[in-house]
Formats: sequence, C-alpha cells, structure tokens
Amino acid sequence: MLRLAIQSKGRLNEESTALLREIGIDIDDSRRKFLAQAPNFPLEVLYMRDDDIPQVVSSGTAGLGIVGLNEVEERGFDVKVEKKLGFGGCRISLAVPKAVDYDGPQWFQGKRIATSYPGILKRWLQENDIQARIEVITGSVEIAPAADIADAIFDIVSSGGTLVSNGLREVEQVIFSEAVLISSGQLSAEEQATLDEILFRIDSAMVSRRKKYILMNLPEASVEEACRILPAMRSPTVMPLAAKGWCSMHSVVDEADLWDKIRQLKAIGAEGILVLNIDKIIP
Ligand code: ATP
Ligand code: MG
Repeated sequence: MLRLAIQSKGRLNEESTALLREIGIDIDDSRRKFLAQAPNFPLEVLYMRDDDIPQVVSSGTAGLGIVGLNEVEERGFDVKVEKKLGFGGCRISLAVPKAVDYDGPQWFQGKRIATSYPGILKRWLQENDIQARIEVITGSVEIAPAADIADAIFDIVSSGGTLVSNGLREVEQVIFSEAVLISSGQLSAEEQATLDEILFRIDSAMVSRRKKYILMNLPEASVEEACRILPAMRSPTVMPLAAKGWCSMHSVVDEADLWDKIRQLKAIGAEGILVLNIDKIIP
C-alpha cells in the first residue's frame, strides 16, 4: 500500500488535506491518528512533523510526501520532486538590522548569522566565498540580532511583516519555496500507477482552479469577434436563443484575464454574462 507523509499540524496541514479532498481522496482525520487509510483509494496517510518528511520518503518508509521545498533542500535526502503544488509559498532570505549600511554579499564576511536552515545557508556562503559563523537556532530566529546572538539572520519570509516589526531588512533572497509532492523514486509498478493517478488528478484540479466558465447572450453579428476574444479549449460553444438575432455563447477563461475579457465582450454587445467556478477539467 502506497503511503503519503503529510504535516500533522502547521502551515501545510490544512492545504495538504484540502488538496487530497479536492482530488477525491477522503481521509477521515476527525480522530487524528498517526496513520489513516483512505477508504476510496489505495493510499495510507502518515502524519508527522515536516522536518522528518524528506527522510521517511528517502528511506522508503513512505513512498510519497508533501513538504516545503525548503525542507527538501535543507535536509539533503535523496528524493524526487514530482510536482510543485502551488501553496505554502515563501522564500528564505538574509536580513540585517535596518540601520546597517549593506553593500552586497561580502558584508557577511566574518559575521554571525542565526538560522534554522544551516544546510542551505552553508551552501550559499560557499558559493559566494564568504566565511561566516552560523548560529543554529530552532525558533524565533528574528530576535537574534536584538539579543546580540547574531549580526544577521537567515530565515523564512512570506510577507516581510515579521522582519519589519523586529527592525530588520531583507537583503538577499536565497531560495524560493512552495509545497511539493516528493517520492522515493523507487516505487513498485503498482505504487507508480497510484502516483500517476494522483498526478493526473492534481493537474486537473490545478488547471481548473485557475479557470472560470463564462456564458453570455450575444448578438449573432458579434460571434466571430467573440471567438477571437475567447479562444476556448477547442472553440467556444454557440447555441441559438429563441430571440431572433441572438445566441448564447459558452467558454472557459483564465481567471487572470477574466475582467479584461468581460470588458471586451460587453463592448461588442454581450449581455447577461454569467461566470461560474469549474470543479474539474479533464483535457
Ligand atoms: P512542524 O511542527 O511540522 O515541524 P514547523 O513549525 O517546522 O512545523 P510550519 O511553521 O508549520 O513548520 O511551516 C511549514 C512550512 O510552511 C515551512 O517549512 C515552509 O515551507 C512553509 N511556509 C510558508 N510560509 C511560511 C511562513 N511565513 N513561515 C514559515 N513557514 C512558511
Ligand atoms: Mg518543522
């Protein structure tokens, strides 16, 4: 039975279970156990701390895992990144006290840097030919400069608000991370088939998340122009209306372009425009 390790609690837990639900894998986590079986899919879910996920996947204890790319890079275990999942986005950056006159990476020469990510930091320092002292701290790294434990920090940043409220300034963005699906790279044929099915469903869910279904009433004279505005998967669906000279047009648009398309469609006479969410897209 294929096992998937996910974070038991924390920032990635909710979206990991939501993703499983979205692809039709229902895990009963009402009575949170260490291990839960999907009733409708050949998958077992193993709940654990995110730090441990790369290791259990690389050792094959779990064939799959969902974890931040930052943990994968930090731990250095041999795992295969199967898919970027589009949530849990953050970066790991170097930050210095606001008042520091920062003039580039060489500023870190001989400095003390506090971090929970010594592996990634060590590599960056080597690449930039910098000798610095790494102070490993597991929590509240951002208070280290004020407490005079370090001259700078290397930590996770998402909005940057925590840095500002601790009087720090982000100066180097070292890695960008998001949640990823990883595998041991050594699955049996049966487990690989399960993984392929999971990847297929994730692709379909991720595509449909960014798309909207749009339908409208349109003067027949505008159909050609509307097809230019709305290039659908094959081509838009056009259906006659009882009212003479009018039709109904249906299509799928990228959410990012939605308001621009609506403006163009209104300009060529579209009326009664409806925009609907799409549950799944199977190309
Ligand atoms: P655990 O108890 O499982 O070890 P944790 O405290 O190490 O949890 P969380 O804070 O829950 O970890 O973060 C999990 C992951 O979420 C991080 O490794 C990172 O990939 C991602 N993440 C996204 N945004 C942030 C953020 N602003 N701060 C911390 N992590 C973030
Ligand atoms: Mg952790």
